[in-house]
Amino acid sequence: MLMLDLSKEDLEKLIKLQEIDSKIIKLELKLKELPEEIKRLEEIASTRRNKIAQIDERIEELSQKRKELEQIINESYKKIEEAKKKKSKAKNLEEYKEAIKLKADAEKSIIKATKEIENILKELNALFRERERMEQSVEEFEGKIRKKEEEIRKTQQMLEKKLQELGGLREQLVSEISPEVVEFYEEKKYEFGGNVFVPVYNKTCSGCSMQVPSAQYTKLLRGEGLVYCPNCGRILFIEQGGG
Ligand SMILES: [Zn+2]
Repeated sequence: MLMLDLSKEDLEKLIKLQEIDSKIIKLELKLKELPEEIKRLEEIASTRRNKIAQIDERIEELSQKRKELEQIINESYKKIEEAKKKKSKAKNLEEYKEAIKLKADAEKSIIKATKEIENILKELNALFRERERMEQSVEEFEGKIRKKEEEIRKTQQMLEKKLQELGGLREQLVSEISPEVVEFYEEKKYEFGGNVFVPVYNKTCSGCSMQVPSAQYTKLLRGEGLVYCPNCGRILFIEQGGG
């Protein structure tokens, strides 16, 4: 690990650089989350559209069944006509009975099919109403999504612009600091996974919440070189007006 003593000026610049880096990280995180929000909304809309598709499938199924039942009724009427003819042409009791039975069976089929069609029509009615409701809700929801997408796009543009500005500021700042000092900061940043310079509040390191020993604290107040937290190793500083 590179160790060097920073000038007060370097220290101030690095603290500023750290502030910029922390803002950049936050903005990048926000930018990453935005498309996920749209994706989540679109998934909800897609689930609702799937429900409509399921209703459509059931409607199709019932309509097909209804057609089949209507065909049964038509055929049954034909059978009744045939039965009537057979009855009138019957040569004996056997044939006569057969014709009567044929007619009765056909009539039973008609009654059964008619009842089934009635039930199908009831279900179809309910499905059509439900479908209309769902369609309306999906339309409303998709309208909301479009609005939200527009909002998110605007936020995205705003964040990207801010990010660009911060990138410019960072570049400017880095150009004012010697490369080895920047390298020192980058290494430390990597080591701590973030903040390298932490302010001291009430004589406590805000990086690890440990009390700063008097010797280090006095050194800090005097502004004598770098003061490391003996516990976490971060570099301590006293904020303007704080301490
Ligand atoms: Zn500490």
